[in-house]
Amino acid sequence: MTGKPKIALYWCSSCGGCEESVIDLAEDLLTVTAAVDIVFWPVALDFKYKDVVAMNDGEITATLINGAIRMGEQEHMAKMLRKKSRLVIAHGSCAHLGGVVGLANFYRREDLLSRLYQEVPTINNPQGILPQLETIESGRKVKLPDFHDTVKTLDQVVEVDYTIPGCPPTPELIKEAMMMVLEDRLPPRGSVLAEKKALCDTCPRRDSKPDKLRITEFKRVYETEWDPEKCFLAEGIICLGPATRGGCNARCINANMPCRGCFGPTDDVRDQGAKSSSFLASIIDVTDKEALKKIVDAIPDPGGLFYRYGLASSILKGKMTRGRS
Ligand code: SF4
Ligand code: SF4
Repeated sequence: MTGKPKIALYWCSSCGGCEESVIDLAEDLLTVTAAVDIVFWPVALDFKYKDVVAMNDGEITATLINGAIRMGEQEHMAKMLRKKSRLVIAHGSCAHLGGVVGLANFYRREDLLSRLYQEVPTINNPQGILPQLETIESGRKVKLPDFHDTVKTLDQVVEVDYTIPGCPPTPELIKEAMMMVLEDRLPPRGSVLAEKKALCDTCPRRDSKPDKLRITEFKRVYETEWDPEKCFLAEGIICLGPATRGGCNARCINANMPCRGCFGPTDDVRDQGAKSSSFLASIIDVTDKEALKKIVDAIPDPGGLFYRYGLASSILKGKMTRGRS
């Protein structure tokens, strides 16, 4: 025992980008790892499940969990890590809001499984067998975790103390969160550890955003040439900056792409998708029914656009709109 704070990291339903965001700390990773004992990090270090089982309740100072909860195994691990940890930190959009994997909530469980295992052109499954909870393979019983009906956010499964937002979070935010834990200067429980204001408030293009925006047409980025210094919305390109928490260093804007909302809503917004659609509706400067329909029809996949990161945490939650029967 060294007496250093113990840190764990775990990966549920996500792409792995949040794990890479820890590696993106670069040389700061050495500072952090020198100050803590990493006691569980399956993606990087050879700890076993039984190592966590053997720990006392509350023994881990802080566990960062990334990814949404879709599988029984993930829920089990989240609950166990909750018991073993003084602090649980939702790490990244999928744990925070459901993330891109939460878009699966537009579909029924059965439709997802049959699409994936029976219909996609690359599948070779002539008997159309779907994954089973138990299978006998060469005389051995193989068990798979169950696949839940919907994708859940981490806080729908366990109590979450803090959240580091983003897809993925910036290394600066991860480092700052770790330093807050180490230096015991955390804000009130439940806080999202990023900017309080909306992205627009700190956006490098905010001065070119008119006070009164008026849009008569939405354009997609490939349909137009836009001024790389000017606010996207002022150019008629949908940008979710007004409905999104700041703190990402305007990564997409600086790469000349509009915001898609991965930092989630600000504290005073309940539903980021509803907020996004209402602010866009408020700037459309057309009253004629046909013209209005044309503008709205020019937004491809509004559900996927407005809820790209937040469907599982939204007021729609698991309601499915795209089932096939
Ligand atoms: S709408 Fe987008 S581009 Fe315009 S100020 Fe806000 S974040 Fe920046
Ligand atoms: S600009 Fe928007 S989508 Fe891009 S990193 Fe920031 S919050 Fe996420």
